Amino acid sequence: MKTLIYSENTELSLQLLGKALQLSGTGVSAVAVNLEQAKALISSGAERVYLAKDKSFDSMKLGLLDVVARESPDLIMVGSTKRGRELAPRVAAVLNVGYSGDCFEAQQAEGGFAVKRLAYGGSTIASIKITGKPVVITVPPRSFQKPETQGKQGEIIELNISMTPKIRVLETRPKRTGDAGLENARVIVSAGRGFKRREDLKLLEELAAELNAKMGCSRPVSADLGWMDQWVGISGKKVAPRLYIACGISGTIQHAAGIRDSQIIVSINSDEAAGIHELSDYSIVGDIYKVIPALTNALRERAK
Ligand SMILES: Cc1cc2nc3c(=O)[nH]c(=O)nc-3n(C[C@H](O)[C@H](O)[C@H](O)COP(=O)(O)OP(=O)(O)OC[C@H]3O[C@@H](n4cnc5c(N)ncnc54)[C@H](O)[C@@H]3O)c2cc1C
Repeated sequence: MKTLIYSENTELSLQLLGKALQLSGTGVSAVAVNLEQAKALISSGAERVYLAKDKSFDSMKLGLLDVVARESPDLIMVGSTKRGRELAPRVAAVLNVGYSGDCFEAQQAEGGFAVKRLAYGGSTIASIKITGKPVVITVPPRSFQKPETQGKQGEIIELNISMTPKIRVLETRPKRTGDAGLENARVIVSAGRGFKRREDLKLLEELAAELNAKMGCSRPVSADLGWMDQWVGISGKKVAPRLYIACGISGTIQHAAGIRDSQIIVSINSDEAAGIHELSDYSIVGDIYKVIPALTNALRERAK
């Protein structure tokens, strides 16, 4: 059984290697983006590492396909990074083989592989069998342990594939910073569709200032209304603050999946039956337009 691994993130590529060695014993090949990474992979047990010279998206895709042709792997494991999630399904599509994303487990099964991934916003685990050869999967960080052994020998082969990119970057703009850094925030106050007008977010800004908090929101507030850049949830940012205050957010499964790791969740929602209250450690059934200013004032008073 042969496995090919790739991630531009060295730490993640070593985690993939750990699992690949467990599955394959030996016979693990890898694609690396720099010499340091290639050496780390060899030392930890990869037999052959293909060192990509051109790291542009199109060249990496062709490079991976070239290595697949040379190595004929049974399983291709790609790290679930932004780039990995774009590359892996494209490789699978060109090869016309099975693909599954964000798999945190993979085992050999008759005619292919059995993989596991979260489904329905993280509330359940889907067990999927993919048949054929090769099978392509992406793997999120920290799913597997990196190998403990060091000092192994292997071969580094240069991958000289380069092509003119089909995509040209015309302009880059800095992100608005107001709602950035959500993943590492200790306190987040988050806005949902309970806010009627963009100007009303001022109320949340004032609360955020008192709590030294970052501002987040539900997807419709960002994706539909365009009031903020980033949203919290399964398709947005997954957050893990010490305190998450959901204001006028109903608490659908997609939003809940992004806030599960918060230590304390507080909800402010006028509907007593809103799902967010069930997820919360503290529920305030009330109007955000009254509760938020009251909270802000109380915090200001306390700070005096
Ligand atoms: C594939 C897919 C991925 C998705 N990914 C995400 C995701 O990552 N993150 C995400 O958030 N959503 C996501 N969604 C959307 C999700 O299903 C919900 O539509 C969304 O979370 C609802 O946002 P909301 O809670 O702000 O709005 P609503 O569901 O409309 O809820 C608004 C809430 O505000 C309350 N309210 C109204 N007025 C007041 C007031 N004055 N005071 C107090 N409370 C008030 C209401 O009682 C209600 O509970 C996704 C959907 C799909 C299909």
